[in-house]
Amino acid sequence: MHWPLIIDQIAAASGVPFSPSPPRSIGGGCINSAYQLAEGERAYFVKLNQREELAMFEAEAAGLAELAASNSLRVPRPLCTGTADGQSFIAMEWITLGRQHSQSAAAAGRGLALMHRCTRETFGWDRDNTIGSTAQLNTPQADWVSFWREQRLGFQLDLAARHGYAGALQTRGARLLEALPALLDHAPQPSLLHGDLWGGNIGYDQQGAPVIFDPAVYFGDREADLAMTELFGGFGADFHAAYRDAWSLAPGYSTRKSLYNLYHILNHLNLFGRGYLSQAEGLIERLLAEVNG
Ligand code: ADP
Repeated sequence: MHWPLIIDQIAAASGVPFSPSPPRSIGGGCINSAYQLAEGERAYFVKLNQREELAMFEAEAAGLAELAASNSLRVPRPLCTGTADGQSFIAMEWITLGRQHSQSAAAAGRGLALMHRCTRETFGWDRDNTIGSTAQLNTPQADWVSFWREQRLGFQLDLAARHGYAGALQTRGARLLEALPALLDHAPQPSLLHGDLWGGNIGYDQQGAPVIFDPAVYFGDREADLAMTELFGGFGADFHAAYRDAWSLAPGYSTRKSLYNLYHILNHLNLFGRGYLSQAEGLIERLLAEVNG
């Protein structure tokens, strides 16, 4: 049984003996099974997957630590990762989620801008990680266009080809990769990004302060994070206004937004199937029309 082994590792990592109640299953996760482990007031959020997924949890823990070090938005503090009886796991601080109050969305926008002020010399990160359950490459590169072409769009297009999506997606996709210098004619700084900022990965603690979880961290154009907040919605006008008040956007964002969201649509195609094909092809066509027009 894996739970006693996980509880031992939590006790060792925290340095305090731990005798929790039986794990409580939490709904809501897409990729992993999630639990609360609690002994009275002391509680951890624990996610489980197959043993082979340990590296994914190690990268998630490193990502949470990187975001926490930016002292911007609240994130759960990672405690430990490990394996136990055929399972891999990550344990982190449990944060009881509550409701937004009138200032919460603006605080999220300001906090995200502050997080994006954390910059590096190169795009990428110290390690590869995952986006959903797809591999995400983060080899450091100085040139953003090359990074986005090779490690983001090109990587997902190649994966789509291996999944059998040939034809227009590939021919038009190749044209788009060639056109990237024209479409990404801007010089972003490498900002600390959450990397997978859809509405399911932000919540609010019991004081109404925003909390972000389940990151796919790397250093990239901050507009890539913002684009994703608009892809599936849910962040609201106050969030967007507060972000722009804190750090305005350069002209041309609406074109780059499509280019950045294409990465997530291609990832959805690769993860969830053909239902995303026409959306991916439509985005590529619209972007090519902007180059030619
Ligand atoms: P998955 O990796 O399986 O997608 P998530 O990390 O997104 O799982 O977590 C699933 C849900 O659990 C989140 O949407 C959130 O509601 C909740 N959650 C995530 N982290 C915590 C935490 N540290 N404390 C309490 N609840 C959390």
